[in-house]
Amino acid sequence: MGKKPRRSREPQPWAYDLQDDEIRREKAKARELRATQWWKRRCDRGICHYCGARVPARELTMDHVIPLARGGKTTKANVVPCCKECNNRKRQLLPMEWQEYLSRIAEGKDKA
Ligand SMILES: [Zn+2]
Repeated sequence: MGKKPRRSREPQPWAYDLQDDEIRREKAKARELRATQWWKRRCDRGICHYCGARVPARELTMDHVIPLARGGKTTKANVVPCCKECNNRKRQLLPMEWQEYLSRIAEGKDKA
């Protein structure tokens, strides 16, 4: 399967049921990945992937860059450590709003 065209900005509730089993598998993989040295080393850096805040390793959470509900997988390339604040925001915002949030952060960094 190739890349899906980004036509719809709305979540597609019908897709969630179909992917339910797969999401469960990916979540189980995430639990395993969290237990690896690879992940611990990433967290030891103590930096949120998104906002760049310094965060104690134990307070970093694992975030899927492409959410599982949108077809993201639990791979090393798709998971990043992030702070609770970013994690919450990402959950609450629409993907588009989240992108805006990220670009605001990037602008802030450029100015600083
Ligand atoms: Zn953050």
